[in-house]
Amino acid sequence: MKLNIDYQEKFQHRHIAPNPEDTEKMLKTIGVSTIDELIGETVPEKIRLKAPLNLPAAKSEFDYLNTLKVTASKNKVFKSYIGQGYYDVIVPGVIQRNILENPGWYTQYTPYQAEIAQGRLQALLNFQTMVIDLTGMEIANASLLDEGTAAAEAMFMQYSLRKNQKANVFFVSEELFPQTIDILKTRSEPYGIKLEIGNHQTAELTDDMFGAIVQYPAGNGEVYNYKGFADALHQKNIKLTVVADIMSLTLLTPPGEWGADIVVGSTQRFGIPMGFGGPHAAYFATKEEYKRSIPGRIIGVTIDSAGNYALRMALQTREQHIRRDKATSNICTAQALLAIMAGMYAVYHGPKGVKLIAERIHGLSVLLASALNELGYEQLNKAYFDTLKFDLGVLAGPIHSEALNNESNFHYNGTEVTISLDETTSPEDVKNIVRFFAKVKGKTLADANFDALRENIESVIPAELQRTSAYLTHALFNSHHSEHEMLRYIKSLETKDLSLCHSMIALGSCTMKLNATTEMVPVTWAEFSKMHPFAPTDQVGGYMQIFDELNKWLSEITGFAAMSLQPNAGAQGEYAGLMVIRAYHNDRGDSHRNIALIPSSAHGTNPASAAMAGMKIVVVKCDENGNIDVEDMRARAEQYKNELSCLMVTYPSTHGVFEESIIEICEIIHANGGQVYMDGANMNAQVGLTSPANIGADVCHLNLHKTFCIPHGGGGPGMGPIGVAKHLVPYLPGHAVVDIDNGKAIHAVSSAPWGSASILLISHAYIAMMGGEGLTNATKYAILNANYIKTRLKAHYSVLYTGSKGRCAHEMILDCRSFKQYGIEVVDIAKRLMDYGFHAPTVSFPVAGTVMIEPTESEPKHELDRFCDAMISIRHEIEDIEKGLSDKADNPLKNAPHTAAVITGNDWEHSYTRQKAGFPLPYVAAYKFWPSVGRVNDTYGDRTLICSCPPLSDYEFEESEVTTPEYGT
Ligand SMILES: *Cc1c(COP(=O)(O)O)cnc(C)c1O
Repeated sequence: MKLNIDYQEKFQHRHIAPNPEDTEKMLKTIGVSTIDELIGETVPEKIRLKAPLNLPAAKSEFDYLNTLKVTASKNKVFKSYIGQGYYDVIVPGVIQRNILENPGWYTQYTPYQAEIAQGRLQALLNFQTMVIDLTGMEIANASLLDEGTAAAEAMFMQYSLRKNQKANVFFVSEELFPQTIDILKTRSEPYGIKLEIGNHQTAELTDDMFGAIVQYPAGNGEVYNYKGFADALHQKNIKLTVVADIMSLTLLTPPGEWGADIVVGSTQRFGIPMGFGGPHAAYFATKEEYKRSIPGRIIGVTIDSAGNYALRMALQTREQHIRRDKATSNICTAQALLAIMAGMYAVYHGPKGVKLIAERIHGLSVLLASALNELGYEQLNKAYFDTLKFDLGVLAGPIHSEALNNESNFHYNGTEVTISLDETTSPEDVKNIVRFFAKVKGKTLADANFDALRENIESVIPAELQRTSAYLTHALFNSHHSEHEMLRYIKSLETKDLSLCHSMIALGSCTMKLNATTEMVPVTWAEFSKMHPFAPTDQVGGYMQIFDELNKWLSEITGFAAMSLQPNAGAQGEYAGLMVIRAYHNDRGDSHRNIALIPSSAHGTNPASAAMAGMKIVVVKCDENGNIDVEDMRARAEQYKNELSCLMVTYPSTHGVFEESIIEICEIIHANGGQVYMDGANMNAQVGLTSPANIGADVCHLNLHKTFCIPHGGGGPGMGPIGVAKHLVPYLPGHAVVDIDNGKAIHAVSSAPWGSASILLISHAYIAMMGGEGLTNATKYAILNANYIKTRLKAHYSVLYTGSKGRCAHEMILDCRSFKQYGIEVVDIAKRLMDYGFHAPTVSFPVAGTVMIEPTESEPKHELDRFCDAMISIRHEIEDIEKGLSDKADNPLKNAPHTAAVITGNDWEHSYTRQKAGFPLPYVAAYKFWPSVGRVNDTYGDRTLICSCPPLSDYEFEESEVTTPEYGT
């Protein structure tokens, strides 16, 4: 027998699910003989790429990880004392393995379908409760993208709420971290907000000032008492935002007790790896009275159809899906997974545990300061928590060298040095620093009196700033301190949530595809997770190589000249891209160009981002096929030719169609002096077949958490890098600390120079293991799978909008509006799908009363068939209502989802059977996923908003409701 020793497993055969036999069957059902015939009927010839993608040959999973180990070794993991908003942490193993590295958590979608998302909703409610407690505020959201953008959101909220419409000055303490100030500059400019950057102790409070922001502890570590400043601001009706370090708040009087109106910050220190900049969850806390102005998601308590405790996203009418350009922010994807982890850190350690951790950090900082003082180094902060400041004069150079010899990084600014300690710092580490500080002065450890000092360490926090109020008092934070209890608590929440571990999540526009294990593994390697984003360049060679390669590959895929890897989500990419377009126009003396044309079918983040970039929005009509009405667009473009800034267009359209007119559309915009911004959410239908540059766009964001395999994390993290054509490259975002300026950079849009750097590894792995051919096949199979579903369902549902040859792209819209006459709404179908074990597709976007289905290439025929069977079975249930066989008010759709408690309850008064309710198809019996609550009541919870954990006693059973079984009688 001849043996093939060149055989190598191809990752694309793991990622793309349909096998050759199933592919044949699917093609037959669709009525074409080859995939390429189908693609030919779907993607217009004139937009097709002429050459295959020029990417390196695909690597196997095994080879990829081996190669990546070599790249990883080019990152030097030094001890980080840099601080500046990023600290090393100890991720509790039980949280790392069971949440961060667990697909049961990280492959969940944003919790729109609350009944099958109660686990993460509870975990996010825990996070909110933790933030409310530690900041001393009344209400908190469920995370923002990072500390800097949270500060910018706070500024904007103050601006929106200002009473004096002429007030346009915002006071910014010069002691904020530079990256935060940088982001405030970006965000203030389009609104004409003037930043007054200065010293809060000498600031002049003027009548045109609407708000102020300070940092606690301040950037260089000083802990100021801001009470007097807060009082003075309030005297003049000026609101105060405080950026606060979450760890320090366990020891410091919380801002809510001395006058803050908004408190924001990062929760990275609560067990989230630095990851060279992210992902981390920022928090946003404020007063109850501002609840309708809060940016981002808020989780709130409500009841389900049986009157039981249930959770869901509250006050959604603030958000961009509904409010569009008037939304409180453009936040869609946030940082759910990281917020969940930070909340769990508080659950695991409890109030006593986190306080002990903070006391140790503070204590070691005091020890270090005193020992260095003995050696004659003067520590300059009067009061501090974890950051010491020195002016080393001529010794700065020698100390810098010694620090590097000892594999330690400090933060340097001229001769000034700051040293920030964290949870991982040990007494031995402190001793080591003292030793080399001594050496530089020709002294020894003995001269520092280290051992004697160690015996008597006192806090240096002034009495009036020492926290006296309790926090994390809820039973939740005081129950799960042994690992077994914690493990079971995490599992108990995980099992309430449907994720890709259970079944396909066919979300149109949101591309929920495989998040392969090999792609995820490197994220927690120390060489990547323990890197500080401001580490010296010669220690970060591994990351630089990853960014270079990713930049090159994504440029090849989009056809653009370069990428910015900074934006932390798709919507942030939109904002960054529009700011780049704005800078381009301004630079050419066209600062009056500020109109954005946006089709009526656009995603809500488009108008919300355009508003953030200071643009005026003009809506363009769509025709009856869901395409942009080219004549209306031409008319608008010509009407506004002097003020036109850009068009924002999604391609293939949000209606799931490759519009043939796209090239003409781009030409019209260019002819009228505008730029074309392409929303890349639908890139999964383009990769390898066409590209944004090929159709004529100038800028495009990519949702790496859609097309490029970063998992959704139950609502984040994500990454939204932007690609731009050559003329826009100079304007790509810069950074205040790390020089990444291409010449005319706009200010930063994220706190870290490369955003959530550590998860870029996932997309890097995906592209490296798929290669050009694999990526192109993925696109083809995504289109195949969608057209297969369409073919199977079209006899039962009407499919809205298809291409000229009757094909859909990678997704399709089913029209459910005609069922209204029988009392069935599209949400009833969404909820009924849960009884069949499925997460609903996208509901009512881009057209109300419809669902949008996107299966992706990672689903096998078998799974597509299960889904189609469920949809067809539901259609028959609707037919039963039409025919009068089923009651209009009491039927399986209206009562969906059915919980185990309802189905096994002693009372069953419905006109259909329990079996039909819970096991409507045979396959469901083989593997049943139970929704943990009945249909959630949204309005109930919005009437009386509760967004922290209510006392458990509120939800305890009455004694009489519990029946104790009797034995032996
Ligand atoms: C998902 C999506 C966005 C927003 O992306 P986020 O990463 O959630 O901010 C924008 N446009 C479209 C069409 C999308 O599907």
